[in-house]
Amino acid sequence: MKAFDILIIGGGIAGIRVAALLRKKLASLSIGIIEPSGNHFYQPAFTLVGLGLADRSTAQKSMAEVVPKGCNWIRDAVTEIDPQHCMVSLSSGERIAYRALIIAAGLALDVESTPGLAESLSDRQNPVCSLYDSNTHDKCRTLLQNFAGGTMLFTLPSTPVKCPSTALKSVFLIDDLLRQSGMREVCKLVYITPFSFLSNIESAHFVAATNAHKKGIEIILEHELNQLDTRNYVAIFAATPQQTGAAHLKNLKYDFALITPRMKAPSFLIHSGLIQSSGAMSGWLNVDPQTLQHPQFANIFGLGDCAALPTLKTASAGLAQAEIVAANLASLFKKGVQIQLPATYDGYSACPLFTEFGKAIPGAVTYQGVATGSFWQNPNQPSRREWFVHRYLIPTLYWNFTIKGIV
Ligand SMILES: Cc1cc2nc3c(=O)[nH]c(=O)nc-3n(C[C@H](O)[C@H](O)[C@H](O)COP(=O)(O)OP(=O)(O)OC[C@H]3O[C@@H](n4cnc5c(N)ncnc54)[C@H](O)[C@@H]3O)c2cc1C
Repeated sequence: MKAFDILIIGGGIAGIRVAALLRKKLASLSIGIIEPSGNHFYQPAFTLVGLGLADRSTAQKSMAEVVPKGCNWIRDAVTEIDPQHCMVSLSSGERIAYRALIIAAGLALDVESTPGLAESLSDRQNPVCSLYDSNTHDKCRTLLQNFAGGTMLFTLPSTPVKCPSTALKSVFLIDDLLRQSGMREVCKLVYITPFSFLSNIESAHFVAATNAHKKGIEIILEHELNQLDTRNYVAIFAATPQQTGAAHLKNLKYDFALITPRMKAPSFLIHSGLIQSSGAMSGWLNVDPQTLQHPQFANIFGLGDCAALPTLKTASAGLAQAEIVAANLASLFKKGVQIQLPATYDGYSACPLFTEFGKAIPGAVTYQGVATGSFWQNPNQPSRREWFVHRYLIPTLYWNFTIKGIV
């Protein structure tokens, strides 16, 4: 049976970053990374790739290229964790032992909980796509290229989702594309959210609401997609519980729909006994919000989208959390079980909002609320600088330095 000092589940953004940092801090220890995919994805680029505004190559590289030197990549999927015996089982039937376990398995798209969604996404004739499902990126690009006018829907569900401003920034970018091609006047753009606001960052809500009003984008608050009528291209929305006064169901016929599916923790985690069982983050991996250590098992840490943390699920959050996990785990290995772990996570996360092609606001938060950011960042003022940072600077740093543990 294989055994590693440190075993990492998931070779995504958080998993590869934490592996690279630990390789540097604890060079003599063995590190295994369990990851079934042959490719590593930089998902923040999915928005522009899916809308046809960036090449697919900006979003992916082969896994072999990104696994840090000296780490062992096990190309398989975890099916079970046995925390009492420090062991995981893989879909091949193999079992692997660990001294410390890091869970960075991302999240799962819960497409099945919306009847009609899976069929609509896989049917090439049905004008439904999702930026969250890279299998529909080509479809999305084709639908947009051939779009001849009509109603375009953009949805957000009530579950936690990764980078929740994705649907909203897509409306603004598509609005711009339609204006450039002279098509805007024959298109109705509708954004539907289960919440009573456009962003839980107040300043971002204000910027988005003003922008939507200026661009003639219709906003429907407090409604969630319940079902898609796959024959007649009708989306059926239910009023969310806090909504009062309006009819319970709202049917909208669409000619194009960009759906954000409901999301949940990967199923092996849900059945692992390691998840939070109550509260707003129930169903997600239980970790201490500051140290990222599991409350029952001192040798288990969790980070990234799968973790039950009261902040936005983003790449920037996963990268910040990787620093904390690496520092705390290194300390555990060097000094043994301690009373207090040295590093604490402040909840930093950033999900930028593109307000038009070439402009963005940072959308950064911590556990304390809106992140004040650097002196050059203004959370209320869309800027070209912020667009440049997210479109070019961060991805370049990511592929060349971040995943190598260099910065
Ligand atoms: C359309 C879109 C736009 C986004 N925009 C932004 C943005 O602008 N800014 C930003 O910061 N973030 C953005 N994000 C969010 C960001 O990409 C995620 O939050 C980030 O990828 C989370 O990293 P992670 O490592 O937790 O998960 P992932 O990167 O998803 O990696 C999880 C890994 O775990 C693996 N895995 C799953 N199950 C198993 C298993 N059973 N065994 C072993 N491995 C398993 C998966 O194959 C995957 O490789 C966006 C995401 C999307 C989809």
